Amino acid sequence: MTQYPDWLWYDGKFVETHTASTSVLTHSLHYGVSVFEGIRAYRTELGKTAIFRLDAHLRRFIASARAFRMHIPFTLNELTAAHVALIGKVQLDEAYLRPLGFYGAEKLGLLTKDLSVHVMVAAWAWAAYLGEGAMTRGIRVKTSSFARPNASSGLTRAKISGTYANSILAKLEATEDGYDEALLLDSQGYVAEGSGENLFIVRGGALIEPEPACALLGITRETVIELAQDLGQKVQSRRLTRDDVYNADEAFFTGTAAEVVPIVELDRRTIGDGKCGPVTARLQRAYADAVRGRDPKRAEWLTLV
Ligand code: PMP
Repeated sequence: MTQYPDWLWYDGKFVETHTASTSVLTHSLHYGVSVFEGIRAYRTELGKTAIFRLDAHLRRFIASARAFRMHIPFTLNELTAAHVALIGKVQLDEAYLRPLGFYGAEKLGLLTKDLSVHVMVAAWAWAAYLGEGAMTRGIRVKTSSFARPNASSGLTRAKISGTYANSILAKLEATEDGYDEALLLDSQGYVAEGSGENLFIVRGGALIEPEPACALLGITRETVIELAQDLGQKVQSRRLTRDDVYNADEAFFTGTAAEVVPIVELDRRTIGDGKCGPVTARLQRAYADAVRGRDPKRAEWLTLV
């Protein structure tokens, strides 16, 4: 069981975690419309903890809500202050942060008009999402039988809870079949993303991402693209098929929870030589330098606590 710290932030105040609750008639619990983020804070070499790309995460949080016409009753500045204060309150120097915006319990029925909106932020220690050793050894991935919903069946950029029903089906299928993670295709059969990560491949020296038509626009993905460009690495975005991944020199997933994780196998085809490749390793190092405050060019990505 996760050991959650004693405090979380709920609607503007610190509340004891064991008393922070909501009604079983909470609208978001019934219909899956709540917005959330996953954010990490790292101990940095600047001697302080820093929340990585907090501004980008909170802007996406507000944009996800806005797309659903949900009004978050806190400003960007108030949410920023809440995250910073929470890290201090729970006294963690490394943490995963989870803001969640959800509708209240005033009424059920699909119309969300006139419902109250609540926001909570929790923080806890969360180690390597895809398991210890994933970063160095790499992971085994299975193409999911569940397609990622396409852009005409919902909002593909919004990080809302309901979308994760699809991710959970894919993750369950892959892990119960003995794999570490799922790769979801779009409804036309082109590569989309992982259940909670974006994908990149390396082919002939170029870093290539699948055109992100129905994938979440990951902040780690954007970070890795910028870091790759800094390193003089060419980056392309194009439609990818499963066999593009099977025959890639390297492949990796990116995500806030997962970070930069090499993929060494897809559907029992070994990718490259079955080890973390040199481009992946270089980007892992660049990412670690950025989050740990070792890259002075990227100081603006850190919110010091
Ligand atoms: N795709 C999905 C479906 C995700 O859940 C996540 C995790 N938020 C990502 C991609 C990666 O996004 P980020 O790098 O912003 O964490």
